[in-house]
Amino acid sequence: MKWQGKNKLVQANYGDSILLSTVDWIGLSSTVIFLRGCPLRCPHCQNYNLQKGDNIVSIYNILKTLMKTKPDFGDNASNIISPLEEAIRGVTAEPLVSAIILSGGEPLMQPEVIRALSPNAKNLGLKIGIETSGCYPKRLRKLIKEGALDKVFLDIKAALRDPEYYKATGVPNVAPRVLDSLRICMESSTPLEIRTTVFPGMPSVSDVKEIAEAIFAFEIKFPNHKFESMVIQQGLPINEEFEPIAQVELENIAKSIEALVNVRVRTTSKRKKSKRPN
Ligand code: SF4
Repeated sequence: MKWQGKNKLVQANYGDSILLSTVDWIGLSSTVIFLRGCPLRCPHCQNYNLQKGDNIVSIYNILKTLMKTKPDFGDNASNIISPLEEAIRGVTAEPLVSAIILSGGEPLMQPEVIRALSPNAKNLGLKIGIETSGCYPKRLRKLIKEGALDKVFLDIKAALRDPEYYKATGVPNVAPRVLDSLRICMESSTPLEIRTTVFPGMPSVSDVKEIAEAIFAFEIKFPNHKFESMVIQQGLPINEEFEPIAQVELENIAKSIEALVNVRVRTTSKRKKSKRPN
């Protein structure tokens, strides 16, 4: 197999990974790779250790470590084309894995990693998705246009305006960028899942309804959209500082918007991640 794409020697600022997940991409088993770095500062961030810092690793090493393969390709840079292919082959050799999700942090801080990984993974039959906060709409549009993404998982954290979005992300003026990302996905007919994580008092039920109304408006405007569902997720504490919202309450929130959008509830648990590659 020949290398697909331009970037042969791509380095990622790597965070962590989950080798096999059956809950992140419903219907597919996926490997989730968390990239390091995020411009937001959400107060309940579960991945706060990935918000900043550097851990620069080649994509090849990430995948090799995930699959515990031990190819001896040497340090010659010209050999790296082949190892990356082989490492992705390692993922496909895992009989259950059929997709890679790039999460974070914010994966769109490293579009070149997505751009390099996507064609090679696709060539081996893997789908590629990203989980994004939506704060880089131009990069998202470009990757969609290039055909790099099979699915977008877009986090919408609050009603799409400040001060609500500021409170949810710790950064002002994010809401217009997220709204733009939503519009780009709906207009482009890219398969889309919206995720809203509910913590005590944030977002409010009326805020969740506003998010659903925004999605509904785009469904009308872009009839060829591939919006699949809005997922109401249970927000978890970092250090037991609050009781998570009960499932029954999450289901009531979902019921309040089911006339507007396809919606489901997801309760979550902290997941075990893999060791970091060297
Ligand atoms: S966008 Fe995600 S990774 Fe970034 S601070 Fe918020 S919760 Fe954490």
